[in-house]
Amino acid sequence: MAKDVSRTRDLGSIFRYIYYGKTQSRQQIADKLCISLPTVTHNIEILISQGLIYKSGELESTGGRKANAYSCVPDARFAMGIDITRHHLSLVIINMRMDIIAKKRMRCPFSDTPEYFEHLRDEIDLMLSTSGINRDLFLGIGVSMPVIVARDHKTISYATVINLSDNLYERMAGYIEYPFLIFNDANSAGLAEGWASDPKEAMTYLFLGATVGGARVSDRKIIGGDNWRFGEFGHMCIEPEGKLCYCGQRGCLDAYCAASVLSDFTNENLGRFFEELAEGNNPGFKRVFDDYLNHLAIAIKNIRMSCDSDIVLGGIVGAYLTDYIDTVRAKVSRLDPFENGARYVKTCHYRVEASAVGAAIHYINRFVEEL
Ligand SMILES: [Zn+2]
Repeated sequence: MAKDVSRTRDLGSIFRYIYYGKTQSRQQIADKLCISLPTVTHNIEILISQGLIYKSGELESTGGRKANAYSCVPDARFAMGIDITRHHLSLVIINMRMDIIAKKRMRCPFSDTPEYFEHLRDEIDLMLSTSGINRDLFLGIGVSMPVIVARDHKTISYATVINLSDNLYERMAGYIEYPFLIFNDANSAGLAEGWASDPKEAMTYLFLGATVGGARVSDRKIIGGDNWRFGEFGHMCIEPEGKLCYCGQRGCLDAYCAASVLSDFTNENLGRFFEELAEGNNPGFKRVFDDYLNHLAIAIKNIRMSCDSDIVLGGIVGAYLTDYIDTVRAKVSRLDPFENGARYVKTCHYRVEASAVGAAIHYINRFVEEL
């Protein structure tokens, strides 16, 4: 019995070692993981037979025969991520390597009704069919929403941006026939960025979307806090007695840096706001954007003072800030008492669908960790 447990543990350890990018020879894996060479060889044969790894090439030799190198099969498993926002619905399918195999985004206002969930079910089935993936390799669906969700990823403890009645998870389960769990939108997007960054460096993610939120990611994991509310940066006060926030308080960052602060000037079309801003013919847009960045800079400075890590700007606004990163850094640098340049402010890797990808990552991660 003990031997079987150890064999299973070795199989998982070897798979994770290869999955996380350490392409090495069997002998190097044996040395690194302190597993005997015959056991490594045996487990590699099992992983190959299960379609999880493949012989991807040969390593450079310092003499003698070249050793085989092994890599994870990208399409060994798949997961779906769904991002539900107040006005839109997005679906993605990712593989083991976080490649987006299929994606679809549509305007679809959320409503807590059977009609909405029937539509959601139909879109899930349509995407699974058209993507052509093998459903035996499909792990499940992560659903990202602008809500605060408890550790069980089923119980929603706070939802103001979208109207929800009780027991959402149970009602959704009546329409979704696959395993699924619910995740906070900003946490999901932060997780996707965390997986795209150096996992050894803790990173703080500032989500600038339809709402403002954030996440702290370390070693590919979200740091949730006691109530899974870590990174609720949208409700930091940056203007006492300032503009009213949807939470009921005044002066919250959300009231100054949500996407609508910009897109309200272009009929909810954020892309058009940035197009007109780049054209430079509208001084009003320039003023609005400058005011936006001034408030954003205060928030980034406060986050830097409390988290002392890189700060990645994401969400739909973050995706557009690449062209303005020098301006953002200059504004933050003027507020920073410790260092010049604010090089720790970065723009996001995922320009679209970070929340959907991050929600899907949960299932890929669980598969990798539990093998
Ligand atoms: Zn607020």
